[in-house]
Amino acid sequence: MNYLTHLECSLCSRNFEPGRPWALCPCGGPLLARYDLSAVRRDWTPARLAASRPDMWRYAPLLPVPPDSIISLGEGLTPLRRVRSLPDHNLWVKDEGLNPTASFKARGLSCAISMARELGLRGVAIGSAGNAASALAAYAAAAGLAAHVFLPRDVPQSNFIDCRACGAEVTLVDGLIGDCARLAAARSAAEGWFDLGTLKEPYRVEGKKTMGFEVAEQFNWELPDAILYPTGGGVGLIGMWKAFQELEAIGWIGPRRPRMIAVQAEGCKPVVRAWENGADRSEFWSDARTLASGLRVPKPLGDFLILGAIRASGGTALAVSDREMLDAGLRLAREEGIFAAPEGAACLAAAEKLLASGFLSPADRIVLFNTGSGLKYLEAYATRFPRRLSAEQDKLGGLITPR
Ligand SMILES: *Cc1c(COP(=O)(O)O)cnc(C)c1O
Repeated sequence: MNYLTHLECSLCSRNFEPGRPWALCPCGGPLLARYDLSAVRRDWTPARLAASRPDMWRYAPLLPVPPDSIISLGEGLTPLRRVRSLPDHNLWVKDEGLNPTASFKARGLSCAISMARELGLRGVAIGSAGNAASALAAYAAAAGLAAHVFLPRDVPQSNFIDCRACGAEVTLVDGLIGDCARLAAARSAAEGWFDLGTLKEPYRVEGKKTMGFEVAEQFNWELPDAILYPTGGGVGLIGMWKAFQELEAIGWIGPRRPRMIAVQAEGCKPVVRAWENGADRSEFWSDARTLASGLRVPKPLGDFLILGAIRASGGTALAVSDREMLDAGLRLAREEGIFAAPEGAACLAAAEKLLASGFLSPADRIVLFNTGSGLKYLEAYATRFPRRLSAEQDKLGGLITPR
């Protein structure tokens, strides 16, 4: 059973029929999937959900893929863990580092690759800062599709190697994600590949929205007071916002929403700058620089959707420095046993700032999204743990405690 009815342009509202591959609307707007929500409301219940498969496909009635066409590696239903080291606070980490390919990008690409195969596509391409390419490579391998990925030449080793290992054709680009995306688009047009770049097709956001379903389900259909999300392209934030609208439409939650808080890096904060200027769209951030590669997005395509959700929810946008991210990451690891991606750690640093400023209060139930595993960022964390041995340790041989 599938409830997808059509795709709708997020800018001009023009409709498109499903069953064919669609990219952007001719007006340039990203397309969003729409469902027969009254039929879902009639057919689906929390009790039926509770008996469903233990991954993100448990939300299949609000996903576009027919059940027989699902390509899954076990993505989703990640743990939501309370931060114990701050007992006076109500702080939770949604740990997306436990997904296949060690980031939440698995959700979007499980959905998009399933649809790509369902629609008869053979080759897929992406320009990516790293984790989206890793997920694309893995799901394309599982689906038997040819993958072509375009990555910045300084992409983390983990991404470069797992893309190669999964058999993707990798092109390194002397530039940032935007340059990679342009090259992926040009080569796709020439070669007949389908471009799965951020928001350039409608289905990655559908996979990512399941993070919103899970937060709602894991809190027993009571949404938290605030969600902090490390925002690059912002697709997870846009997706969760859409998920909450759909859950309200089927009657599972009320109109109350968490404050949606976009966290960026000091070295690349187009959404923060737009938010502070009261603008509806962001401006290109030149010389983008941060070790949180997922946040190195100088101009998000869906900026107006991100800013709209922040505004409608009473949220905000703020940036933290790379040093604050690594500090917070090491604190999370030491105190909670969660070795987070710098992007996820940024949310802890940001929450602390917002608690100190009074924007958030200790009584608020706050969810931090750790979007990936620290294990994907060994070059970044290695700056804190250089493996230099003193001459004396060298002489001793055997027992060595690096400092
Ligand atoms: C891609 C990525 C982000 C940013 O995700 P968006 O939903 O595009 O904003 C954050 N963290 C990690 C680890 C990522 O890979």
